[in-house]
Amino acid sequence: MSGITYREAYVRGKEQLENAGVPEADQNARILLEYVCRTDRQAMLLAPERILTETEEEQYSEVLKKRCARVPLQHITGSQYFMGLEFAVDERVLVPRPDTEILVEEVLKDGASGAKVLDLCTGSGCILLSILKYSSSATGIGADLSEEALQVAKANAQQLEIAATFYRGDLFGALPEAESRGFDIIVSNPPYIETAEIATLMPEVREHDPYMALDGGADGLDFYRRIIAEAPEHFAAEGRLYLEIGSTQAQAVEALMKERGYTEIRTVKDYAGLDRVVAGVYREITR
Ligand code: GLN
Repeated sequence: MSGITYREAYVRGKEQLENAGVPEADQNARILLEYVCRTDRQAMLLAPERILTETEEEQYSEVLKKRCARVPLQHITGSQYFMGLEFAVDERVLVPRPDTEILVEEVLKDGASGAKVLDLCTGSGCILLSILKYSSSATGIGADLSEEALQVAKANAQQLEIAATFYRGDLFGALPEAESRGFDIIVSNPPYIETAEIATLMPEVREHDPYMALDGGADGLDFYRRIIAEAPEHFAAEGRLYLEIGSTQAQAVEALMKERGYTEIRTVKDYAGLDRVVAGVYREITR
């Protein structure tokens, strides 16, 4: 049973994952192997004949078994990179998605230096913490209904050495009165899946991401309605709202913002060419 090489382990793992129907089996096998052997991407090229220790081989079978059962890769390794930063993740938070980087990039393009930022439904804290990391002297609050999610967000802030404040509660209801106004930027990637659609999602998402982080109500728009309607009370004289959306929701979300008196409303596409972010500006003068 012992004596398997790094290269052989990779090929076996890849086959096992393929047979279990795991998407991107090759990449998953490589990442899991790197995880148990504490190696990096170079290992396959530099030392393909290196023999796995018995412990490594055992651990590799264990993580493959989990992944074949469709436990998300990021729950096994406990981490996900987002905007070049490493975030700890587990079943308490939504795994940060690469598409969400578009949301952060839009905020940063418009500029967040010196801004007071609020991130609603902060989850792992990935959006807020990356905005703060890449903006000088910005300050930020993250809010979430889930106490468990906030534990993860706080641990990430500490690990990344980024100062941020976190409050638990329902959207704006999380904010203590004294800190509830004057935001220059409000950002959110709220739950936006239609309730009936959740059962059709991949098992990694359906069974392992928190249900609360997915469910956007019957038409998926529940959180947009509330955030767009309530944000004006919490903005500075001028405030910018940035929302991640599902690819079919741009028109509805733009319409909600228009009705409420936002201007400069725009939709931004992701790298797959799908609508991903809606942004707009709210000025006191338009009230
Ligand atoms: N804001 C977090 C993220 O984008 C969590 C979003 C959510 O739970 N819907 O990853």
